[in-house]
Amino acid sequence: MRIDIHVHDTEPIELLLSSMERNGFDQAFVCSSAVAKGEKVRSLADAKAVLGNVARAQTAEGSKRSVQEVNLALAEKLTPYAGRLFGFGKVDLYDREIEAQMQSIVDAGLYGVGEIIGIHEHVDLLRPVLSFSQTQGSFPVFIHCDFPVEKEDLHALFDLIGEYPVARVIVGHLGGNHWIDALERVADLDNCIIDISEVVNYVPLSVAITEYPEKIAFGSDFPWDLQEVNLARLNQMDLDDKTKGHVLGQNVQRFLEWNHE
Ligand SMILES: [Zn+2]
Repeated sequence: MRIDIHVHDTEPIELLLSSMERNGFDQAFVCSSAVAKGEKVRSLADAKAVLGNVARAQTAEGSKRSVQEVNLALAEKLTPYAGRLFGFGKVDLYDREIEAQMQSIVDAGLYGVGEIIGIHEHVDLLRPVLSFSQTQGSFPVFIHCDFPVEKEDLHALFDLIGEYPVARVIVGHLGGNHWIDALERVADLDNCIIDISEVVNYVPLSVAITEYPEKIAFGSDFPWDLQEVNLARLNQMDLDDKTKGHVLGQNVQRFLEWNHE
């Protein structure tokens, strides 16, 4: 069973499904996306428009639609793909009613929370999210951990993760430029797994899988990046089938006690 633990909702959803078909993925964890849904971003103007939206989405007043609306829309959209596409709900860290938001994600029938953005200099805002995941048991939390997340944020995050041993945390993008810190810190934590989408380049990925083959899970960040990219990197690594199987699905299945065959 091949699982891509990090993709975004596309418009149409067939964009995602055909990529999964092409690359042999059985399941994917789907985060909502207020900005890019697979539209062609070719020109500088397109890019500035999309990235401008991203920047706005990272601020408190960024999103026009309520979090609940976004989550219900995602759950509804993914219903026809039960068993293949597993929605992750959006949470607004600046909203004081975080527990209520998290509960509404569970009530909407979503499988996890993420991609959580906005932790730069605000890691403490994650506490109620991890506390909720702890009470829910195996309720995954996907956290965006490359730019603008800094080294200090990453260490504060790992300190916080250590306080919630039953929570289930996915450290996104292998910690970005701070991948060495991320790998050294994940070593002592059983409640944390590393996503490889948007990894800086081949070297960090190769080091990560060599050092911690049981803690690394395949992610692509589609449609921001292509599923083919990290698959090509894996194929260049001369991994035995067992290790490849672990990275491509078994690690996250074990980590989440995932029984959605
Ligand atoms: Zn993403």
